[in-house]
Amino acid sequence: MTNYVLVLNSGSSSIKFQVLDLNADPQDPPFLSGLVEQIGENRGHIKLVTEDQTIEDRRSILSHSVGLERAFGMMSLLGAGPQDLDISAVGHRVVHGGSKFSEPVVITDEIVDDIRSLIPLAPLHNPANIDGIENARTLLPDVKHVAVFDTAFFHSLPEAASRYGLNREVADQYHIRRYGFHGTSHQYVSGLVPGILGKDADDINQITLHLGNGASMAAIRGGSPVDTTMGLTPLEGLVMGTRTGDIDAGIIFHLYREGKMTIDEIDTLFNKRSGLKGLAGANDFRLLQELINEGDQNAQDAYDIYVHRVRRYVGAFMLQLGRLDAVVFTAGVGENHVGIRRDTMAELENFGISIDESRNNNDEGVEGPRVISSDDSTVKVLVVPTNEELAIARAAKELSEM
Ligand code: ADP
Repeated sequence: MTNYVLVLNSGSSSIKFQVLDLNADPQDPPFLSGLVEQIGENRGHIKLVTEDQTIEDRRSILSHSVGLERAFGMMSLLGAGPQDLDISAVGHRVVHGGSKFSEPVVITDEIVDDIRSLIPLAPLHNPANIDGIENARTLLPDVKHVAVFDTAFFHSLPEAASRYGLNREVADQYHIRRYGFHGTSHQYVSGLVPGILGKDADDINQITLHLGNGASMAAIRGGSPVDTTMGLTPLEGLVMGTRTGDIDAGIIFHLYREGKMTIDEIDTLFNKRSGLKGLAGANDFRLLQELINEGDQNAQDAYDIYVHRVRRYVGAFMLQLGRLDAVVFTAGVGENHVGIRRDTMAELENFGISIDESRNNNDEGVEGPRVISSDDSTVKVLVVPTNEELAIARAAKELSEM
């Protein structure tokens, strides 16, 4: 028996979606994955991929609703339209749940209003998420739609970790605190660790490293987060593909006063023109590695800065946890980049962390979770592939049955 759930991730100019069969092996690729991109541009692009077929459409896409409707039409051409498949629930990725949402919820008109009220906290993301929700509810009115929030896992961060040293009145008036992001991923991969180590979840202290284009880390004690690197927005913390990560807020005043930059220019500079791309011209680690191999000093510096920042947080989180049992690498860089895992974990033997070189090197093409620490490492170092879509689909299915 199949058990299909649609997962939608609606961004400002693109919609990513998957249809997953929850009765299939979780290691298998999704039943169908789709991408609608370049919405609102002269030329659009829709691509659908199933096990044996790929179809594309390159006509312009006026709006999100046109894109989604056309994508659903293309799915029907493959015999895999929402009606053909008897989709039992739709899960929506929503970036910002503010202080309101600590877990997934079934979407009603009131919930849409609540997500709308959080737009000031995520002005780029939440409007696109709402678009996706409204269009999908119109096209699929008879199934339950569930919102899964990127921030929810970090809802219970202790006050000491979530409150900035900012004037209390101002912070409270503008809902400024550290919310954390990538929560679905940190929760998913950390949730697999007890099974891999054969220990009780309550007994495990771990640091999870979600290193993708966006990157964040979490310190997790017994399944609950005690700290994370991202803050009010996904800008804080690690150096990322195009984001600065932690930066002295005084730089904003300096650029404003001396550089005569507008706030929007500074926003774009920090979020889109910095990080690895701004340091070395490449935000993809594969390209960065090629530049390093060619002897490009900026690329080498960018790599070193990236590693330095990760290690700074590994040290900080280790102290906060007191005892560390596992370090978990995930997402595009964490799952694939042997050098980043080696260099971020180098010379930590005094702290009980030791990578096994050959385990770390020889995992290309290996699917599924694996241990890459040496047998005598008291802290286990793991690679656990993330699967945010599966986590969203499971949450949507569970809530839709309640
Ligand atoms: P996001 O979901 O944030 O866009 P991903 O988790 O898919 O990001 O990670 C994308 C990044 O992962 C790429 O920009 C690239 O830096 C890195 N990456 C992907 N595959 C590899 C690989 N084989 N080797 C090294 N880095 C990789």
